[in-house]
Amino acid sequence: AAKSNERNTFRFYTPIMQADARQRLQLVSELRRALVNDEFRLRFQPSMELSSGRVVAVEALLRWEHPERGELPPMEFIPVAESLGLIRRIDEWVLRTVCAQIRDWDRVGMPSIRVAVNVSARWLSHPAFVEGLGRALREFQVSPQRLVLEITEGAMLQLGDDTERTMRALHGLGIEVAIDDFGTGYSSMAYLKLPAVTWLKIDRSFVTGLPQGANDVAIVEAMLAMARSLGLSTIAEGIEHEAQHQFLLKAGCDEGQGYLYSYPLPAAALERLLNPRPLPARLSLVPPKQQ
Ligand code: C2E
Ligand code: MG
Ligand code: MG
Ligand code: MG
Repeated sequence: AAKSNERNTFRFYTPIMQADARQRLQLVSELRRALVNDEFRLRFQPSMELSSGRVVAVEALLRWEHPERGELPPMEFIPVAESLGLIRRIDEWVLRTVCAQIRDWDRVGMPSIRVAVNVSARWLSHPAFVEGLGRALREFQVSPQRLVLEITEGAMLQLGDDTERTMRALHGLGIEVAIDDFGTGYSSMAYLKLPAVTWLKIDRSFVTGLPQGANDVAIVEAMLAMARSLGLSTIAEGIEHEAQHQFLLKAGCDEGQGYLYSYPLPAAALERLLNPRPLPARLSLVPPKQQ
């Protein structure tokens, strides 16, 4: 804890932070209020098995329903939350909400798909991280196989000396890790052989140029070949066009996510997508209206 607090303090006094200190102070108090007033929402974006077209997973994506500014995407508040030390509480809220959601979905008989959660380096490197994760799994009776943690290369780098130990602990819990936005950060092949690392997520920036862009084709094919020989599963993100889907399917990519298949959806919309029939168990949770 001391280490990460030191880092926060240091960051707080860098010139960039001082530049709009007033705005940041405002944002930080608004973020605290958001946690108390329950202003965060989760969207779930389906991940399709390319060979079958089935939804086999979802990624939980955070939104802030700001009372004045409307729905804000994560990039508008997560970097600030990270630099001001609030990201841990937010990520913890996301994880616990996802675990509660998995439990509720299990109770009403939704298909048992994987749920991927994005975690920031700040929280990953916190000494209480693994324990908090284990506690949430037990409390909501969620099997670790249902959860995947998405960690960017940048976050892996920030973990530094703690990377191996943290990945070993996650592996011990039975949790799988996906390297998110692969190829955009300080790509290190060493991350790919860490314990718990099971998934390689090809960044949208490489998918955009498929299938015409010769460089993107070469890079994506190399990533898929490398993943295959290391025994890793692959997901491509940001698939918007049929031609990208066809290319990735032929190239042997396992799963795909993108607007071609589905936008990130509120839980209720995902439930309708996966389970078009009414969910019987849910009806018993809500007493029927008197006729
Ligand atoms: P990411 O994990 O790489 O998530 C993929 C982003 O691409 C999401 O943006 C998603 O909405 C968007 N996307 C999906 N399909 C398409 C597509 O076909 N075309 C285009 N143009 N975009 C697509 P979003 O939801 O704005 O999230 C941005 C980033 O914020 C995420 O990138 C992730 O790094 C971070 N993030 C999201 N939720 C959380 C969270 O709960 N905790 C943390 N620490 N970070 C989060
Ligand atoms: Mg992600
Ligand atoms: Mg990603
Ligand atoms: Mg990305």
